[in-house]
Amino acid sequence: MTNASSNPFAVMSIDVEDWFQVENLKSVIARDAWNECELRVERNTDRMLELMADRNVRCTCFILGWVADRCPGLIQRIAEAGHEIACHGYGHELIYDLTPEQFRADLDRARKLLQDQTGADVVGYRAPSFSITDWAIPILQDAGFTYDSSSFPTIAHDRYGSLTGIEAGQPIVELRPGFTEVCVSCLTLAGRGLPWGGGGYFRLFPYGVFRRGVNRILNEGQPYVFYIHPWEIDPGQPRQKGLKRSHAFRHYVNLGRCEKRWSRLLDDFTWTTMADLLEQCSPVTNQAQSSESNETTSAGG
Ligand SMILES: [Zn+2]
Repeated sequence: MTNASSNPFAVMSIDVEDWFQVENLKSVIARDAWNECELRVERNTDRMLELMADRNVRCTCFILGWVADRCPGLIQRIAEAGHEIACHGYGHELIYDLTPEQFRADLDRARKLLQDQTGADVVGYRAPSFSITDWAIPILQDAGFTYDSSSFPTIAHDRYGSLTGIEAGQPIVELRPGFTEVCVSCLTLAGRGLPWGGGGYFRLFPYGVFRRGVNRILNEGQPYVFYIHPWEIDPGQPRQKGLKRSHAFRHYVNLGRCEKRWSRLLDDFTWTTMADLLEQCSPVTNQAQSSESNETTSAGG
């Protein structure tokens, strides 16, 4: 454990959104119904801020604009506690369901709101449900972002998007000059990435097994990137019926144990922000995307 606890490159990130905004519940909670759902994100995020303050942990918060609009005090408290403010878009729409124009409008609305609320430059983005796609990258850069952290180089999930040239084992990649991708962590097994960055996977595996995987990534000299949502430490959230079994499993598995498990994870490693990581690590250049952005003909592959 000694190696891992002295390694500065474990990044903690929180996607600040509420329980009813997740993709797994979309079939039973329509967007129009969001305003009638019980808002629990403020209380849950405050609890996470408390757990991090107890341990002097700073993280990166990818905040949904919809939440920032309703909980401006929460955004202030996150910023005042020294966490990095980053953007999770405004309405939690999957990118590949939007037109480029709709995507740009969603981005601008969320980024402006967060910058107005905090007075800080917001340069980091994470796509809803990791739905990143190649055409979104130049739009993100044009909108003022310098990095994205939506790529999860794995084949194990049916909803994640993908970027050209991202492979397991290359966690920080310069996609274009001045724009970097920071992948959420995977364990490389037989050349394929096994998701090891949080979510249902974090709640599903026994904690000791999960921690060993994190140690393995760090001991290989790779940075480690973890993500969690405030609703994951909230077993008291309203339970929804009529969900597809796989969706219910992903959303509800081990919610009751998650706060304790997350506290242990905070204790067991030294955490930092995305901004700090990017300041200290130089990215690998992604040849495929760079040449595509510089040439009129596609580089292919
Ligand atoms: Zn999200």
